[in-house]
Amino acid sequence: MTTLLTTADIAAIVQSHGLPEVLRRMEAAIASAFRRWPEFDKVARVASHTATGVIELMPVADARHYAFKYVNGHPGNARFGLPTVMAFGVLADVSTGRPELLSELTLTTAMRTAATSVMAARLLARPDSRTMALIGNGAQSEFQALAFHHGLGITTLRVFDVDPAATIKLQRNLRAVGDLELRVCASVADAVRGADIVTTVTADKRRATVITPEMVEPGVHINGVGGDCPGKTELHPGVLGAARVFVEYEAQSRIEGDVQQMPLDFPVTELWRVLGGQTPGRLSATEVTVFDSVGFALEDYAALFLMRELALTLGLGETIDLMPKLANPKDLYAACAAPAVTAQALRAA
Ligand code: NAD
Repeated sequence: MTTLLTTADIAAIVQSHGLPEVLRRMEAAIASAFRRWPEFDKVARVASHTATGVIELMPVADARHYAFKYVNGHPGNARFGLPTVMAFGVLADVSTGRPELLSELTLTTAMRTAATSVMAARLLARPDSRTMALIGNGAQSEFQALAFHHGLGITTLRVFDVDPAATIKLQRNLRAVGDLELRVCASVADAVRGADIVTTVTADKRRATVITPEMVEPGVHINGVGGDCPGKTELHPGVLGAARVFVEYEAQSRIEGDVQQMPLDFPVTELWRVLGGQTPGRLSATEVTVFDSVGFALEDYAALFLMRELALTLGLGETIDLMPKLANPKDLYAACAAPAVTAQALRAA
């Protein structure tokens, strides 16, 4: 049997534990998986590109479990009433191949992406960071805002989106968070001025340069989330060239991240090395650091385990027959054969 977790189940987990607690546990789960980095069989995700977007498969495995995520990225989807990013995923037992869990990963991706951003910022941002610019106020933005507020002590958000309605929605959703101040800014340059951390989480299928070199102040940490596909970037190459750049999985980030714009010998550091203490994070209060986030399968592996554990303790999820139940494993035909037709039944027909 396979456990199915739907959007309603994930929402119930968040409502029961509270988003800050789920984000805290998500960050811990992802950090713990990243510390086991060498144990995983890793590959850059497989992408299928069209004029309007991309559909990707993201596999990863260790000796016991195999996980994959199906995810799309279609920045124009709002006009069809659909989110830009939608996802689901599977966790399977490596020893038999049996799928143990089939889960929604749209809400979960927003949480795991925000948790990964905070995990990176904990290593790379100045510890006294209190102000964050949040450029792009769409589906991911509340999760980023709340993860940085509760996880890293950000108390002021300077927000900007080219779509004012997105910013109004963000303001409405965060109104109840009393000790988080939102300042709506007139431009990207206005929003990033004086910010300790700059999060870019825009969606545009082109080589955008949301952040340009003259906007970058000494000591800032840039959490670049939206540049995650070939031909889809947010940071001017000059911003990367003047910073120390950190990535999840180099083989994938060179193709998809903002670093796709840089020569192949441009130095990047994989985050797991900083988490494991092999490479230092931030070196000084004036250094500029960039987390060039694209989203890596190991984050979804960790998220799938966490959601299954939280669902189990709350009695959520249903078991489904995703695979046939067979009395004789070699008799697959029996699973679809009609019950034996008797001569009597034939005569009556
Ligand atoms: P969304 O479409 O809901 O929101 C994106 C917002 O960006 C929109 O409100 C849009 O108006 C705004 N925008 C576009 N160009 C802008 C610009 N130049 N300046 C300011 N605002 C701009 O999308 P979403 O689900 O919030 O995702 C945002 C981005 O994050 C997407 O590009 C998505 O692919 C990416 N993403 C990355 C990861 C990761 O792990 N790195 C995970 C999930 C999503």
